[in-house]
Amino acid sequence: MSAPDTGPAEAEAVGRVLRSGRFSQGPFLEEFERRLREYLGTSTATAVSSGTAGLHLALRAAGVGPGDLVLTSSFSFVATANAIVYLGARPIFVDVERETGNLSPVLLEERLKREANGPSSARLKAVLPVHVFGQPADIEAINRIARQFGLSVVEDACEALGSESRDVKVGTLGDAAVFGFYPNKQLTTGEGGAVATRREDWAENFRCWRNQGRGRGGRDATHVQLGYNYRLDEFSAALGAAQMGRIEELLANRERTAALYRRELADLEEIELPSVAAGTTRMSWFVYVIRARSRKARDFIGEFLAGRGIPTRVYFEPIHLQPFYRELAQGRPQPLRETERLGARSLALPFSGVMSERQVQTVAEALRGALAAFR
Ligand SMILES: *Cc1c(COP(=O)(O)O)cnc(C)c1O
Repeated sequence: MSAPDTGPAEAEAVGRVLRSGRFSQGPFLEEFERRLREYLGTSTATAVSSGTAGLHLALRAAGVGPGDLVLTSSFSFVATANAIVYLGARPIFVDVERETGNLSPVLLEERLKREANGPSSARLKAVLPVHVFGQPADIEAINRIARQFGLSVVEDACEALGSESRDVKVGTLGDAAVFGFYPNKQLTTGEGGAVATRREDWAENFRCWRNQGRGRGGRDATHVQLGYNYRLDEFSAALGAAQMGRIEELLANRERTAALYRRELADLEEIELPSVAAGTTRMSWFVYVIRARSRKARDFIGEFLAGRGIPTRVYFEPIHLQPFYRELAQGRPQPLRETERLGARSLALPFSGVMSERQVQTVAEALRGALAAFR
């Protein structure tokens, strides 16, 4: 489905850690964080052990606790909602925009107006928009609405390192933004993540919490708060630092694969290709997700391709329909029309920055065959 884009620079960096004998809390962590914040233009970036860990920390900094409510979208990876539940809070799923699959600011405002007059208004704490598949959510509108209701904004930018909305990098406008570096992401550290914020008090807590609650931003021997082990090891940090040195190349390679898919698939009327929204001035490609006309067509394509040895993934099965979240909703999940439609029709094709033109053509030919067989 995906493959990391690594080379000699990464091998050299990871080898240096091995030879140094210093495997955690060393110079590469600092170098990786410096490169991240310089790239993003935020004053701080705190590396952590996963994107999920980063979401947990960012929501905690936003004051989310037991019984609280966080507004987010269900058309996402389950980690988005899980981080809310870790804190004893509950997600309120707001439906998404059809074109982008991102949280709809219009529906967010409607829902907040309703909730603000309801019995749980004091429990509303934060909005957690997701930049799905690398496409920026309308963060300016979401910020404006969240401010109106006194809520924090945490961006789930785990799929969107390098994306720009109206020439502004994703992950720089919310109170904090979380990035993920799993091997299928634009930049990888193996496992890993980071939280970027301009708020120095939040960053101080992130450093404390990731390191077992140690005082003075994680540097003291005393444990002044409840913390976790969310540290990023030096091998991962070195890999990340080397990848940051190649970030433009990594993004360009993925852009190239997306352009090849577009060229090969543009004439197929039965499927919709990923579109780049008007406000997206730079798309950082995370996955290549096509939309079929129906669930039946989508499932047929997936099985047909599997029969030819080509993997695909249902991306996403909406979170609110997952067994655990159905149970949390006492078996009565609130219906979300666009989210459910997208969930039924979407299919991710194999995608990475190191796919060859030939590989893209092989997938495209198989897809053509699937559509012909379905007709
Ligand atoms: C990848 C991802 C995460 C974080 O995943 P980790 O595996 O914990 O790094 C969070 N949210 C979304 C939307 C993601 O795609």
